[in-house]
Amino acid sequence: MRVLVLSDIHANLEAFQAVLAVAGEVDALWCLGDVVGYGPNPNECVDLLFEQKEVRCLRGNHDAAAVGDLPPDSFNPEARSSMEWQREALDAASIEKLKTQDTRLELGEVTLVHASPRQPILEYLLDTQAAGDNFAYFESPFCFVGHTHIPVHFALNGERRQPSMRIPKPNHQITLEARSIINPGSVGQPRDRDPRAAFAIFDTAAHTWDYRRVSYDVAAVQAKMRAQGLPKRHIERIASGW
Ligand code: ZN
Repeated sequence: MRVLVLSDIHANLEAFQAVLAVAGEVDALWCLGDVVGYGPNPNECVDLLFEQKEVRCLRGNHDAAAVGDLPPDSFNPEARSSMEWQREALDAASIEKLKTQDTRLELGEVTLVHASPRQPILEYLLDTQAAGDNFAYFESPFCFVGHTHIPVHFALNGERRQPSMRIPKPNHQITLEARSIINPGSVGQPRDRDPRAAFAIFDTAAHTWDYRRVSYDVAAVQAKMRAQGLPKRHIERIASGW
């Protein structure tokens, strides 16, 4: 089965559409959370996501905060003001969707969480120490995470306690060895200095991870954000990818 794996769409419709267009035909879509937050099209992104076939979606910290299930004090002031806008913008159907997603899923050989197996919606897996600790919190061969917006692959080999850490090469396929924690990067707000939308296609039989980046019309999204009075920092960062 070929699965489109993506995360952190963040209400960026143009980026999401570009990903779906180049991903082509897949058997399923696994979204690792944060469908909303930051961007100008939260309802449109929720609608487009749940129109796809065989969709499984996790609940991210922004999704939880946007529907009032996570206190806004875990966000910085800009993220908080943007969050207020999202809360106002969301319609009843989107709220219902975002309220009913799981924080952890086990699908075949893969554990899915938004942030980390230890703290499914809040921990940032940015280094080998944090990732290493988290291998004790899931049993499957593979764990897919989002949240940091940075594509990264942690692999634990043999008896070693500390995993290796690699930044995957865009538009390049690797084969996942047991056990791995891997992040496909962010669709709507990359933070690895590459503004292109990120995603991966995972083959559940061959265990291949085809990691891709795709350009989209950033200026169009920025114009919509400006028109809605969203924070300047969030408008600028989608162009710099940082
Ligand atoms: Zn996010």
